[in-house]
Amino acid sequence: MIKHTLRKYLSTILSLLICTSFSPLVQDSVDLQPYNLRLEDDELDGTDSTLYVTHDSGAPYPAYAIYGDSWSHTDVNPYNASPANMSGAVAINLTGYTHPILNVITSRFGFRRWKFHYGIDLRLSVGDSVRCAFDGRVRIARRGKAYGNYVVVRHYNGLETTYAHLSKMLVQVNDEVRSGELVGWGGSTGRSTGPHLHYEMRYLGQAIDPMLLVDFATGKPYKDAFLLTASHFDYVREVEKIRYWTVRSGDSLWSISRRTGTSIDYLCAANHISRKGTLRLGQRIRYR
Ligand SMILES: [Zn+2]
Repeated sequence: MIKHTLRKYLSTILSLLICTSFSPLVQDSVDLQPYNLRLEDDELDGTDSTLYVTHDSGAPYPAYAIYGDSWSHTDVNPYNASPANMSGAVAINLTGYTHPILNVITSRFGFRRWKFHYGIDLRLSVGDSVRCAFDGRVRIARRGKAYGNYVVVRHYNGLETTYAHLSKMLVQVNDEVRSGELVGWGGSTGRSTGPHLHYEMRYLGQAIDPMLLVDFATGKPYKDAFLLTASHFDYVREVEKIRYWTVRSGDSLWSISRRTGTSIDYLCAANHISRKGTLRLGQRIRYR
C-alpha cells in the first residue's frame, strides 16, 4: 500500500529523492525514455539530493510539477523563481535532442559589454528551418520588440527553449510539438543586425548556457542527462551587481570616476573605451 502510494506520488509530481546511488527509481514517465543516467561520481560532489523531472500524461502542461499552472503566453519569465538559490540538483533528460539549426555561432552566452546575452546566436539564411529541441508544448508564439517573431516551448524534461528573430512562425500557442519539428523559418525580425537564430535554454525562467549541455559543433548533447545546480546561475549575481552611470552634460571620465568612486582604468576596461575617447550624452557607463 505504501509502495503503491509512493509510486503514484512519483508519477504525479516530481520526486525529490535523497540519492546515494543513481538507480533509476523513477520510470513512470510516459513520453520520456527511462532515465539512464550516466553521471560520473565527481559530478555528484556536494550534491546530496537530485530531482528527477517526470511527465504525467494527465497534467495540463509539460513539467507541471515544476511550473504548476503558470502558463503565460506573453512573458518569457513569469515565474518569479530563483534557481540560483536552489539546493541539490535537477537531472535534465537530454535524450531525443534536436539542434535547432547547425551553423556558425556568432555570439555566445554571457556578458556583451554591459548587457548580458541570455542565449546563443547562430548564423542562418532567411527561410532556413528552425527545429524544436525536445518534445513539448508551445507556450509563446508572438512578436516582441527585441526578439522579433519568437517561440517559447515548454519541454517535458523541465527546460524551456526560445527561438527568436524568426521570419515566420509555424506553430501556435498550446500546440504539441515533437523534437525536430519545425517551429519557424529563420529571419532577422526584432532587434537584430542580420539573419540569425537567437536560441535560449531556460529553467524556471532563468537562462542557462546551452553550450554546457550541447556540443554546438555536432549539435549533440554531451551526455544523456545534465545535472543542473545553483552554480549554473552564478552569473545572475554578476548581472545584478552591475551599475551604470548615464552621461550628462559636463561629465568626463574623471568626474564619473569621482562621483562613483571607481577608477578611470576600471571605467575604460569595463566599457571598452579609451581615456582620450569622448563620451556621448546619454551613454551608459558601467561603473560596477
Ligand atoms: Zn542573441
